[in-house]
Amino acid sequence: MTLGALPQTVEVRTLAAREVRLAGVLDPSRLLRFSAAIVAVKQPVVVKADFYRDEEGRYVVSVEVTADVQVTCQRCLGTLEQTVASSALLAVVWTDEQASQLPPRYEPLIAGAEIDFWEVVEDELLLALPSFSYHGDINCGAKTGVQALGAEVAAVSGSPEKDNPFDVLKALKGDLDK
Ligand SMILES: [Zn+2]
Repeated sequence: MTLGALPQTVEVRTLAAREVRLAGVLDPSRLLRFSAAIVAVKQPVVVKADFYRDEEGRYVVSVEVTADVQVTCQRCLGTLEQTVASSALLAVVWTDEQASQLPPRYEPLIAGAEIDFWEVVEDELLLALPSFSYHGDINCGAKTGVQALGAEVAAVSGSPEKDNPFDVLKALKGDLDK
């Protein structure tokens, strides 16, 4: 199935009242904050969203986002492939006060008549992006870095003997042996 482009502006309450299901793709180069947080993204972001009203009449969006991205390895500073995926249950509210009264299963989506749905998707991607990414050992180019760290540890343990607190104990023991 080929997915069409995800609309940017949606009337979220209208879609929820009509129980609309949206599935679409989004060009990640249009998401400037997300693009800045990663190295590159080659595939379009895939978005699925179900709009509906819950038993209490709330306007709800159940949204799933998936993106295959390249991020920086924090060990070797090379790039690695990563799939960023997130799902969220958003309840549409008008105010902060309404947001604070939502049941915990919902994340608030404070919105007027229309929302920038791309921005919602971008927020979800940024939340799902791990803050610390690194290769598995095989692909990571940081082995030399680990060796350097090992050498540093060895250098510390080889510090001059006059700084060794155990020498004081040795000297005391020497006194007792006399
Ligand atoms: Zn690495």
